Amino acid sequence: MSKMDAQLKLESLMIHGGHEPDPTTGARVTPIYQTASYNFKSTEHAANVFALKEFGNTYTRLVNPTTAAFEKRVNLLEGGVGALAVSSGLSAISIALMNIARNGDEIVSMDNLYGGTYALFRNIFPRMGITVKFVDSDDIQALRDAIGPKTKAVYGETVGNPKLNVLDIKKVSEIAHKNGIPLILDNTVTPYIIRPFEYGADIVVHSATKFIGGHGSSLGGVIVDSGRFDWTNGKFPLIAGEDPAFHGKDFVKEFAHLGNVAYILKARFSLLRQMGQCVSPFNSFMFLQGMETLHLRMPRHCENALAVAKFLSKHKLVSWVNYPGLLQSPYKKLADKYLSQGAGAMIGFGIKGGAKAGKKFIESLQMVSHLANIGDTMTLAIHPSTTTHSQLTEKEQRACGVTPDFIRLSVGIEHVDDIMADINQALLKSQGRSL
Ligand code: PLP
Repeated sequence: MSKMDAQLKLESLMIHGGHEPDPTTGARVTPIYQTASYNFKSTEHAANVFALKEFGNTYTRLVNPTTAAFEKRVNLLEGGVGALAVSSGLSAISIALMNIARNGDEIVSMDNLYGGTYALFRNIFPRMGITVKFVDSDDIQALRDAIGPKTKAVYGETVGNPKLNVLDIKKVSEIAHKNGIPLILDNTVTPYIIRPFEYGADIVVHSATKFIGGHGSSLGGVIVDSGRFDWTNGKFPLIAGEDPAFHGKDFVKEFAHLGNVAYILKARFSLLRQMGQCVSPFNSFMFLQGMETLHLRMPRHCENALAVAKFLSKHKLVSWVNYPGLLQSPYKKLADKYLSQGAGAMIGFGIKGGAKAGKKFIESLQMVSHLANIGDTMTLAIHPSTTTHSQLTEKEQRACGVTPDFIRLSVGIEHVDDIMADINQALLKSQGRSL
């Protein structure tokens, strides 16, 4: 953190953090360093950066100045010791876990996850010998029971997408820590409105594609390390052991002078370096632009979502509404505890007439977009059971909160009257009626 960064409040950091005006050109905005590689100063410099004796620009798969500014800004957002930007949210999740788990290891995960993450854990990780045990995020005893000697992490989402349960981060992190393992949290749906490290999470991942970018224009992901987890308890040889890929370097010892940064350095210099899921500098630039308004967008998303949730809960053509900020939500207490600035942009609701009416509703929307994304400035709607969660069985869909009548909204920052008017006319049309 620079001297200036240390003095600024979060809102100012989201505009200034991570970037100094370019010393050569004076460019005020972080330039897009669209380059694959960089001139070395000398052969000695080249050898040193390859051997990690000093840090420097080598190749954009590993490091890039535009991406570095984005990484620093997300790190400031979450309050960590270091961040790593990658090509997508799913890359971030894969790297975050593969950084500590290998063949024969286990992860314990909440069962209510974004469908792509669930499919990664159920279909892809087992191919590499990593078993993921799923537990109900409301069942603390099931979590305790699922953790065994081979478990390397507890994984969850701050607010489950799309079940919209609020995770009791404090309780879950305490259980993880009692077992000597970290809590890794996906904070994609609530950036800025919650900082999970303050409640005991150890690693945070984001799909930057969503609220961090905000424009729905760019794919990216990021991992942030709190620097608080002790990797030297004997359970994490991939972080604290000798690494044959680096002539036996133990990252914990080697970089101790920089703080507890072995996890995030390993993610970059081992997995990103060798697997290659780097983000494009252009996308990092877009995320930097997005972050400048994050602190204005998030409260407006929350305010609009609460108004839409209240409107839907009184609507005759709606059978149920799920929004953690509503009084009737089983997660209201946890939302008040963890999401005091607003319960997020996501709403789930059941439409009367089931899947058939749901299809008609989606097709009747005019301003609201029908697409498979969340977090844009625009309001978005989708029918998860036939799209984002279609890879799952019906039982798995139900565990994620996906029923055939379920419509998911990501409420945008348009005027709330326009959002409600469009939803209202589409609800009427879903039943063959019009305004
Ligand atoms: N995490 C959550 C909560 C998501 O909703 C998504 C995508 O919808 C992802 C991760 C994956 O992100 P990406 O599409 O950037 O890979």
